[in-house]
Amino acid sequence: MKYYIGIDLGGTNIAVGVVDENYNIVGRAKLKTNIPRPAEEVCADMAKASRMAVEDAGLTMDDIEWVGVDTPGTVDTETGMLIYANNLFFHNVPMGPYLSEALGKPVFIENDANAAAYGEALAGGAKGKQDVIVITLGTGVGGGVIIDGKIYAGFNHGGAELGHMAIVKGGRQCTCGRKGCFETYSSATGLINTTKKYMEKYKDSLMWKLCGGDLDKVSGRTAFQAMKQGDKAGKECVDEYIEYMAYGLASIVNIFQPEVVCIGGGISKEGETLLAPLRELIAKEDYCRTSKKRVSIVAATLGNDAGIIGAAFLGRLQ
Ligand SMILES: [Zn+2]
Repeated sequence: MKYYIGIDLGGTNIAVGVVDENYNIVGRAKLKTNIPRPAEEVCADMAKASRMAVEDAGLTMDDIEWVGVDTPGTVDTETGMLIYANNLFFHNVPMGPYLSEALGKPVFIENDANAAAYGEALAGGAKGKQDVIVITLGTGVGGGVIIDGKIYAGFNHGGAELGHMAIVKGGRQCTCGRKGCFETYSSATGLINTTKKYMEKYKDSLMWKLCGGDLDKVSGRTAFQAMKQGDKAGKECVDEYIEYMAYGLASIVNIFQPEVVCIGGGISKEGETLLAPLRELIAKEDYCRTSKKRVSIVAATLGNDAGIIGAAFLGRLQ
């Protein structure tokens, strides 16, 4: 049996998994990222957590083939350099070379959304599929594009930013500087903004009760909860949210015709409540709707482990 280390570097935690060749996580360790602090300290803790995870698996470093890292921000996959990660306050950190020296293994590094997409394609909702789009609905919308089993990220490794495809000219302001980006409508933040809009419109909506009359307490669940309890405004809000998402996803489907679109992130926990209407709307706008071979729209299944598993197998892409 072969074993690999996957390190998921996030703003809150450094989560490490030892993954076997069948994609099972057989050992784990977690340390706080504790930012802001110097990058060398964070890298040292990444190495430390890796050794802890190997011990947790009952293995030694000799059993490990290589180490993969997924991190927020832009990376240079060839040099192992983390070029820029604004939420970690890191700029030009030679993360790959540092960890390679500390652990004595080859180290591969990848953007977190790309690694998570790769993980879902290897072992999750799109297991074994070669052409896969993964959309993660969080604070923003993370996108990953897998073509022929490989991560596609453009010539400068900055591509596959599916969340920043504009779907409304002059629409909602996005953090990237554009207006009307897919993520301003489809992310959890987008849903919260749509929910607030419907609450302002319907002062008698159950949604007010669900968040204690406080707009600051609106979450990505508020409208879905209200809808399930028969609230008309909640349903209108969810309908609008799903319509915008389907509008964006149909364009993505028409560009890539992936075998699977895999949807992850907190909102994907709504399951069929989200997916069934989404499939119906996308089917109407899918250019290949009369084709025998059609895209499947499914939920991601690995949750936070997608990044660990994707990272652990980055060495395969070399
Ligand atoms: Zn944007």
